[in-house]
Amino acid sequence: MIIQSGAKQGKSTQQIILKEPDWADFFVGKNPTSKLAVEFKTHINDLNKKNFVKKCMTCSKTAERCTGYQGNTTDLYFWCNTCDPYSQGANKGKLSILISYEDVIRFAKQNSQSSRGAQRDLIGIWATGKGMPKPLTASAISIFLP
Ligand SMILES: [Zn+2]
Repeated sequence: MIIQSGAKQGKSTQQIILKEPDWADFFVGKNPTSKLAVEFKTHINDLNKKNFVKKCMTCSKTAERCTGYQGNTTDLYFWCNTCDPYSQGANKGKLSILISYEDVIRFAKQNSQSSRGAQRDLIGIWATGKGMPKPLTASAISIFLP
């Protein structure tokens, strides 16, 4: 849906969800029952339902989850459901298992002082793990997230 008014006029709701997740999160918090918020939540559900396409860090299976490392908001690591995310030397207790869009937003907020960039970077990495195309043109978005 193309946003018709306000600060994001002319942008699509899909584009906001993928590139400006911090703004969508802020907006939904302020206007949880608005038409725009419902649209954002629909896109988030659609993204959550998509399978990962990335391979597991340590085997050839397709990933089913990823991990964030405490205090690091520039990388996520992808894993199948069998391999142990701690097998690569992470210190005990430092990893957060992230599966959904909401998991990634929560992790970005908890692990960054100013989480706007962290939310954008990490949602980008997470969505790329689900096959988000680059460059993220309007037509590429319309195929990936109709
Ligand atoms: Zn694996």
